[in-house]
Amino acid sequence: MFTYEGNGEGRRRKVRCSFCGKTQDEVPKLIAGTGAYICTDCVQLCNMMMRDEADAMKVPLPSTQDKLPKPEEIKEYLDRYVVGQERAKKVLAVAVYNHYQRIRSFAKGSDDDVELPKSNVLLLGPTGCGKTLLAQSLAKFLKVPFAMADATTLTEAGYVGEDVENILVRLLQAAEYDPKAAEHGIVYVDEIDKISRKSESQSITRDVSGEGVQQAMLRMLEGTVSNVPPKGGRKHPNQDFIQIDTKNILFICGGAFDGIEQIIARRVNKKTIGFGGEIVSNNSQANYELLKEIQPTDLTAYGFIPEFVGRLPITVALDGLDHGTLVRILNEPKNALIKQYKRIFMIEDVELSFTDDAVSAIASRTLTQKTGARGLRSILESLMMDLMFNLPSQAAKISRILITEDFVNGKGEAEIMERHSREVA
Ligand code: ADP
Repeated sequence: MFTYEGNGEGRRRKVRCSFCGKTQDEVPKLIAGTGAYICTDCVQLCNMMMRDEADAMKVPLPSTQDKLPKPEEIKEYLDRYVVGQERAKKVLAVAVYNHYQRIRSFAKGSDDDVELPKSNVLLLGPTGCGKTLLAQSLAKFLKVPFAMADATTLTEAGYVGEDVENILVRLLQAAEYDPKAAEHGIVYVDEIDKISRKSESQSITRDVSGEGVQQAMLRMLEGTVSNVPPKGGRKHPNQDFIQIDTKNILFICGGAFDGIEQIIARRVNKKTIGFGGEIVSNNSQANYELLKEIQPTDLTAYGFIPEFVGRLPITVALDGLDHGTLVRILNEPKNALIKQYKRIFMIEDVELSFTDDAVSAIASRTLTQKTGARGLRSILESLMMDLMFNLPSQAAKISRILITEDFVNGKGEAEIMERHSREVA
């Protein structure tokens, strides 16, 4: 839009913003379109309006929702994805419920002076038993940002490696750079046992003490305002920092804690001297029973500083997965592996099925790898490789494929049923 100013020779065209009508001189910049102009003030206003609209469409954070899901509902959801681990699911459901209730009570401002401390969680259990899956599923259910970190890569600030703050960078990225959402997120820190003092001597790659990393993590676990470089650490030194308050972030730490059973056994035995104290065995069930008895003193004996242990007040042991549980993991969860493969074949109109013995054989092979349920996928992938390679080119001729125990054990081929010739046509 434009108007004319002055008359005669001095007459000049004055360009105006087509939205607010301000002239070129009244605004920082005017952008020209086809037959229209917009000023930078109006661009900014439009941006704000669009952001508000997007915010209104966002799922409210659990702490601000009218109805917080109850522990029973949280566990029911976890049941759909995580097989077994009943106690861990219960403990986590309660911990998460209380965590978000605590935030709500802060927000409302309660009149008594009872302070509800933050309850971060420590999960102990062998590799591949579902620790990460539990944390991930919780975040998915609550629709909060989720980030994962590996404690073995963390170092104290100033050392080569990842600064502890990088955990918050990932959370901020998961929250699409919305600091408010990030402040209500869940962080899972894996391999936390590797930053114990005990593991220092075992590490040849780390140039920093486990205790130093524990110290660096302390404040974050407890609650501190951290200056987070949105693009991460040192590669972008000139970026602006975003402040993240960690007091409402739920930290779930997990680790295998190899050898902690001996520490627990020693303590338990001490108490039962004279009554024939228990002997630690290699039996995983016996180990699990011992892990359930864990006390903060066992973690300090394992090499954690007491302050760090104090920041993880909820401790829960997870079962090692036995054959029966692995079979259930293959079949039952909402996105169970066998269901996934069936779907892939179904897309090509081929019915894929597994005999019970075949599923059992896959579980047995996985057990020998000692990688928990993590090994299931790699075994299935290599098993199905050739079939999947041939599937797209042969799907028109095949109606059904049956995976047998012999095929799993490498003693035979999968049973392939050809389509009726009329069907092929
Ligand atoms: P970790 O205990 O080492 O963190 P993960 O949670 O990463 O183990 O598990 C590895 C994979 O194994 C997951 O992706 C998941 O598919 C499967 N898995 C492990 N435990 C369970 C379980 N209890 N129920 C269902 N799936 C599981």
